[in-house]
Amino acid sequence: MSTTQSKREEKKYICCICKMPFTGYGNNPDPVKKRGRCCDSCNAEKVIPARIEEAIKSWCKG
Ligand SMILES: [Zn+2]
Repeated sequence: MSTTQSKREEKKYICCICKMPFTGYGNNPDPVKKRGRCCDSCNAEKVIPARIEEAIKSWCKG
């Protein structure tokens, strides 16, 4: 595998959860944060578990 320098247009974001800069598409941080974008690790470690919790809560409401 040869890695030629590909200059893709990557957007830079500051993660709204951990405040670390990252490039790429980012993730929707809802329900942890209502605005901004978050990095992949926060998405995996915080947003997805929070989303699951929210989903469980909303199922229990009914
Ligand atoms: Zn983050």
